[in-house]
Formats: sequence, structure tokens, C-alpha cells
Amino acid sequence: MIQSTLSTDLITSDILPVLSKSKVARHTYLDKRVTKSQRGTKRTRSQRARERLQTKEHLVGLARELHEGELADKLDRCHSRLSVLTCGRHIARIIPNFTCEFRLCPDCGRRRSRKLQTKYLPLMKAFMLHNKVTPVHLVLTQTHRKESRKESVARIRNSFTKLTRRSFWKQYFKGGTWSLEFTKDKNGLHHTHLHIIGFRRKFFDIDLLRDEWLAVTGDSHVLHLKPILDLAAGLQEVVKYVSKPLDIRRFGAADLKEFLGLKNMRMFGTFGEFRDFCKGFEPSDNNDAMSELESLARDLVEGCACPQCSAPLFDLRLSKSELPQFYEQIESSPPGKVGTSWN
Ligand SMILES: [Zn+2]
Ligand SMILES: [Zn+2]
Repeated sequence: MIQSTLSTDLITSDILPVLSKSKVARHTYLDKRVTKSQRGTKRTRSQRARERLQTKEHLVGLARELHEGELADKLDRCHSRLSVLTCGRHIARIIPNFTCEFRLCPDCGRRRSRKLQTKYLPLMKAFMLHNKVTPVHLVLTQTHRKESRKESVARIRNSFTKLTRRSFWKQYFKGGTWSLEFTKDKNGLHHTHLHIIGFRRKFFDIDLLRDEWLAVTGDSHVLHLKPILDLAAGLQEVVKYVSKPLDIRRFGAADLKEFLGLKNMRMFGTFGEFRDFCKGFEPSDNNDAMSELESLARDLVEGCACPQCSAPLFDLRLSKSELPQFYEQIESSPPGKVGTSWN
């Protein structure tokens, strides 16, 4: 299936701080992330494209090691040839030859994240307006135990379900979205976090929420909360874990094997009243929910004017390894309006 690929800056970092010491982590987790992005450590498009390529090669190698030939072939073929609609300095659209849809594929993950953003951003805005609630980003963590990834995920999901049933939660939150982030530490222990966008009815004491989390988990009180000032950026931050739930380049064959056993595990979902609110809306591929830029790009063909500089667009055929080089070429081209919002 041919899919258009309209990139925004979705996958910007692999910030996975290890929360092994709850006292230290208690107030620093989100702060570190903020300062890190403020320091301007954002990688360039060419660097990110190169990393995706390496991640994919690594995954293909692991799949072959596990004799998962079909998966390896699919991953290898996914985004291996690209049709790039460009003026030479800006990229209007990239169409891949094939998309594998494997959950750990970095290219397909980016597309999935974008789809989620396209779908949920308008819903969130409408929900907030309708209910007069404000969004917060809540990160829930749990103590590390010797358990499988599946058990670790089930544990945090169960705790969260319990939390949402408590009267404290209902009093202050009106639903939201969740996504999973997981990693493994040097000792082989799974670290699973839940990233929640919660729609808050009113302010509350964070310590009360900590007590509630401790009450449902029995042993975890570490959580982090920050207001979301820019909803689009907040949603982007949360859905990035859907495309990149963990650092795959540190993955071994055994990790991939374990992941393959988690076939139907959901990585993202809605809850509470926001969930009911979303039920009235079908997953939208329709143009209404698309950003203006995206719907514009969908109609572009060879010969059209580049939306950023008006030079004529042409179709460039690239192999996967040539894409990072092309980005590099664009990045090092003379000053001017080098594309930022297109890809
Ligand atoms: Zn793929
Ligand atoms: Zn241009």
C-alpha cells in the first residue's frame, strides 16, 4: 500500500531517564527533559534519518538471527525506495514504495504518530472547549521488579485503571489519553511508564495524587505532572512513544523475541469521558482533520510550485541510504528559506 509521508518533527530524542532512585527522580525527571530540549540538542533531519536507517538495519539483523525471515524481508523492503517531491531545497512530500507496519519500525512508527496527532488534536481541542478543562502531562512510574515486559505493562495498566476508578481521580480529571514507554536497565529490569494527557477540572495538591498512586500500586509514589501549555506539542510528546517506545538500538535478539510475543499489546488509548467523546468520531483520514499543510501537500504533483519558494517541484527517486544524504545536502545549502515544516 502506498502511503504519503508528511513529516513533522516527531521523533526528536531518546530521553529515557532511569528512575531507580525515587527521591532523586521525584522532581527532576521532567525538568531534565525540558532543559535538554532547551539546550538545543535537537538533531538534524539528516541525523535522524540516518538513525532510523541504523535502527532498521539493526532490527533486520535481529529478525534474521531469530529466523524471522518474513519480518526481516518486510522491514528491509519498507521505505527502501522513495519518491521525493522536491524543489531541490525543500521537500513537499515523500512516498515510500512499501510500508511494513511493524510496530517497532521507525519509519512506520512516525506515520502512526502523525496519524494519531491528526486524529486527536481536533478532538482534544473540542473536548477542552466543551468541558472547560485544561490538559496536563502526567507520567506514572512503578517500582522495578523481576518480571517480564508483559507483566510489567499489565501491572502499570492495572494500577492506572484502579486509579481512574477512585473518587479523587474522578473529582479532578475528566479523561484523557495514555501511552506506554518502556525500557530495560543494566540489570535486566523493566522500566515501564505511562504517559497521560489528563484533562483537569481544577487544581489539586500533587501530594494527594502521589498518595492515591501509592494506594493503588502498593509501593510506588513516583509521578510527575506538568501543565501542557501548547496542546499540539504536548500531544506530540506523548505520541512519540507510540513510534518509539524504547531504544531499539540497545535491543538484543531476546528482546525482539519477547516483543514479538506481545503481539496485541496496545500502546496508546483514551480513557474516561474523553474516550466516550471520541467514540462519536471515526478515525479520520478525511481532510477536515488534516492540517492545511498536509491537505495541500496531498494535492501536489510534479510541476506544481513549491509551497515554500515557488520553484517547480520534481520527482526525485531515492534509495533509503540516499535520503540522509539528500537531507544533508538541503541542510548545507546556502542560506534561504530551507524547509522546516515540510520534512
Ligand atoms: Zn515499516
Ligand atoms: Zn522550495
